[in-house]
Amino acid sequence: MGRLLNISGSSGTQVLGIHRYPTVSEAASGGQWNIRQCRGYHLRAMIACINSVPAPTEDAADDRRLWRHGDEDYKPVFSSKATWEQLRAHSPRLAWCKVVWFPQSVPRFAFITWLEFQDRLSTGARSRAWGCVQPCLLCGEPDETRDHLFFACPYSFTVWTDLVGFLLGSRVNPDWTATIASLLSSRRKEIDTCLLKLALQATIHA
Ligand SMILES: [Zn+2]
Repeated sequence: MGRLLNISGSSGTQVLGIHRYPTVSEAASGGQWNIRQCRGYHLRAMIACINSVPAPTEDAADDRRLWRHGDEDYKPVFSSKATWEQLRAHSPRLAWCKVVWFPQSVPRFAFITWLEFQDRLSTGARSRAWGCVQPCLLCGEPDETRDHLFFACPYSFTVWTDLVGFLLGSRVNPDWTATIASLLSSRRKEIDTCLLKLALQATIHA
C-alpha cells in the first residue's frame, strides 16, 4: 500500500497506538498485530490489509535484507547491474548498437558516434536552424549534413577510402546506410570488423 504514514497521516501512529519509529516486530506481540482498531474509513482499509498478513512471532528467524534482482528473484547480495536493469526504461535493441558499443571501443569515440547515429552533431545543416551558415569545410558543399560528411563528401570519402579501403575492398561506399550495413556484415573476419568500427569512430571523433 506504500508508506503507511502517508495513508494514516501524521497522527496515525498515535491512533494505532504504536511508536513513531517502530520496527515491524514492535507492532506485534504473541503472534498478533498489536495495533488498535480505528473507525476512520481510510484506516480501516489499511488495518484490514495489515491483518491479512501473518504477524511475526518471537521464535521466527531474524529478518534479512534482500535485494531484488528481478521478478520474484531476491538475493542477499547487491548488484548495481541488476538494480539498474530494473530502474531504467527498456527500449528495443537497435541494429546499429554494435557499431557504437563493443568491448574494444574507446568511450569518448563511442559517445560521439552515438550522437552521430542520432544525427545530433552540430553540422552545418543543423546550425542553419540557429541562424549560423556553415558550408562543408572540406569541400564547400552548402548543405553540410551527417550523410554528406560520412562520406558523400568527396574529400572525406577520399580520406576514408585511403584509410580503410584495403579492409572494405569493393564494398567501400560513400553512402552512410550502406557503410553501416557493410560494418554489420558477418562475412568479414572479426578483427577486421573491429578495426573498421574503431576507424569509423575515430574518424567521426576527429
Ligand atoms: Zn564536403
